[in-house]
Amino acid sequence: MAIYSHSRLNTFEQCPKKFKYKYLDKLKPEIEKTIETHLGSAVHKTLEWVYRNIKETGQDLKIDDIILKYTEEWQREFSENILIVKKQFTTRDYFNKGVQFLIDYYYKHSPFKDGTIACEKGILIELDGKECKIQGFIDRLVYNLETGEYEIHDYKTANFLPNQENLDKERQLALYSIAIKEIYGKDKEILLVWHFLAHNKTMKSKRTNLQLENLKKETIELIKKVESAKEFPRNRSILCNWCEYKNICFKEEMEEKRKDLSSSNL
Ligand code: SF4
Repeated sequence: MAIYSHSRLNTFEQCPKKFKYKYLDKLKPEIEKTIETHLGSAVHKTLEWVYRNIKETGQDLKIDDIILKYTEEWQREFSENILIVKKQFTTRDYFNKGVQFLIDYYYKHSPFKDGTIACEKGILIELDGKECKIQGFIDRLVYNLETGEYEIHDYKTANFLPNQENLDKERQLALYSIAIKEIYGKDKEILLVWHFLAHNKTMKSKRTNLQLENLKKETIELIKKVESAKEFPRNRSILCNWCEYKNICFKEEMEEKRKDLSSSNL
């Protein structure tokens, strides 16, 4: 059984065909990345730098330092081939969005001394002995001295804002909390924290040990389903516009239709 990640499972649920292209056929995508991915990466790397810097030097950062770092991150990974789906927006608009996210975050969370233990913390969860594993990275792990709780923080740069009900069922951070409980103790309280930067909004959730046991079982079942899948149907949706295999997928579908048509004409 392979080592899974939340995004691998998510891809299967979102579109089995995309899962096949990416993880089974290992096709090289025609689209390098979307502007949303680029923005997300630059903001994540900047916030990682902010917390590492504070932890290592103890010195306060100014908003100008943070925006300068963000600009460097943006430029370092920038390429002319980045896909912009929403043609009404320019590259500059997306860059400015990131600036606004960081300004809002700065005024809400500065001086960033909240008990951060680690950034981009790698975790590996054994769901079913050594057979079934999930790996991932926690954006930021905090030990809150005031509450005595561990906190798993995640930054979101997309426009989507879920409701509390969605978050109480969310899988990714809940899975990560299993790993944190394995490290620090099952009796420890873990708070899941999402920063929806496009809305300047922080949302939280918690899971009981029973809920985490059920999540383990559901995830094992999902992995079994993925491993035994023989068919990988297309799931056409608005998300196809951002899919890195869009051209391959549409060409392949046209070819399949052409073949079907010519065989039915025989
Ligand atoms: S273009 Fe759409 S249907 Fe095709 S692989 Fe991508 S997400 Fe799936």
